[in-house]
Amino acid sequence: MKSYQMFVNGQWIGNHLEQFNVINPANKEIIAQVPKGGAEEAREAVDAAYKAFKAWSEKTAEERSHYLLKWHELINKHKEEIAELMTIEQGKPYNEALGEVKYANSFISWYAEEGKRIYGETIPASDSRKRLLVQKQPVGVAAAITPWNFPAAMITRKAGPALAAGCTVIVKPAEETPLTALKLAELAEKAGIPNGVINVVTGTPQDISEVWLKDDRVRKLTFTGSTEVGKLLMRGAADTVKKISLELGGHAPFIVMDDADLDKAVKAVIASKFRNAGQTCICTNRIYVQESVVQVFSEKMENAVSNLKVGDGLKEGVDVGPLINERAVEKVKEHIADAAAKGAQVICGGEGLEAGAGYYFQPTVVLGANETMLCMNEETFGPLAPIASFKDEEEVIQKANHTPYGLAAYVFTENIGRAIRICEKLEYGIVGLNDGLPSVAQAPFGGFKESGLGREGGHYGIDEFLEVKYISIAF
Ligand code: NAD
Repeated sequence: MKSYQMFVNGQWIGNHLEQFNVINPANKEIIAQVPKGGAEEAREAVDAAYKAFKAWSEKTAEERSHYLLKWHELINKHKEEIAELMTIEQGKPYNEALGEVKYANSFISWYAEEGKRIYGETIPASDSRKRLLVQKQPVGVAAAITPWNFPAAMITRKAGPALAAGCTVIVKPAEETPLTALKLAELAEKAGIPNGVINVVTGTPQDISEVWLKDDRVRKLTFTGSTEVGKLLMRGAADTVKKISLELGGHAPFIVMDDADLDKAVKAVIASKFRNAGQTCICTNRIYVQESVVQVFSEKMENAVSNLKVGDGLKEGVDVGPLINERAVEKVKEHIADAAAKGAQVICGGEGLEAGAGYYFQPTVVLGANETMLCMNEETFGPLAPIASFKDEEEVIQKANHTPYGLAAYVFTENIGRAIRICEKLEYGIVGLNDGLPSVAQAPFGGFKESGLGREGGHYGIDEFLEVKYISIAF
């Protein structure tokens, strides 16, 4: 077991503090101890980031880009080590973890370039003796609070654009997965990113966030996590009117029309549903299949899902790792029991596993799901795939839009007219049309309704860290 420290103002601190345990969900063993920071460390991080902001924001975009590219190079060099660390603290299979490190790193290289394209505007004036200019400037210190399900990507998706824009960053990773975050900080230090430009504070979420929310030097809050905590933070940010971005929960419908390529749809739904053991904000939560093909589709699902191998993510050939903790396992059990009590039929899986005494659960498919069931309304955040049938386009659109969430939706059809009609009517920020894996660095990621505010990725993602300044010049 290793002891870690947190990273503030270019220093590794926290030995003197109480520590908390990090647990490997594949075997419940304690793998590390990390300092339980609180208000004091949170304040030190703001002091450092505020102080560093002047010099960092005054650098040219090109200079900042060099630092980011160096960080990118080091992450790439250490990708296997980071992936292994991620599997051990988070549980996802090693190949998936390696995929996440590459995906996470793509945000750093993409924004290293995009930072050079923060263009302003000149607006034609109505007075010939005036010139109207628009400039974009970094908002200031940005606080990032991130979840455990993507321990690297949820940090770089924020820090990449923030640093490229000229902001300095204070990060609080999830208590379950601080090790990946601290490794990224170590590599940022090695890349020569100046002291105070990126800080990682580990510890008690409420104590840390309270300081950050109250401090008016923190001008931006960027959060990924549950809708419940997002709402709390949104309220907390109101007193100092911070700029906020929220990437919150989702409840993705996966729609299969009767003209869809069913094999392609099954392959996509498996990737979307069981990746990260179903602990993904954009993962499929509800599968709607048109009546005439529901039988064939379900049989294909049952076949494919029963072939998935569950186990320790460091073992060769494992498709689905453990869930993050006992609470997560209990939630899946509760959703299955509720669905069964309301008439759904478990056609595959349905049980926890003893495998290595980790937090495992069998990939599960239930047939005959309906809108009264918990799994059709709340995020299961686990490997449960409920299948419901529908008659026509109108019915499935109404059902797909019925939750307060609006993050991702998926549509499988080979008919172009249907595809366009359905995509346009879905109240979702991301639509995968015949595509189960839509997320990339250059495209906007974010939700409608209670799934969030703002976007990460693409040119939209950097605007979240910029203020617009209008300069009216009279002469
Ligand atoms: P969570 O909201 O419990 O925790 C997220 C972060 O907030 C963690 O760092 C946690 O320590 C912190 N936190 C918790 N309570 C807090 C409080 N009272 N004050 C301040 N900080 C607090 O979410 P989670 O369980 O870690 O992550 C899963 C959730 O995240 C799911 O709902 C999932 O859909 C969502 N998510 C969304 C996206 C997206 O891009 N929209 C991506 C990944 C995960």
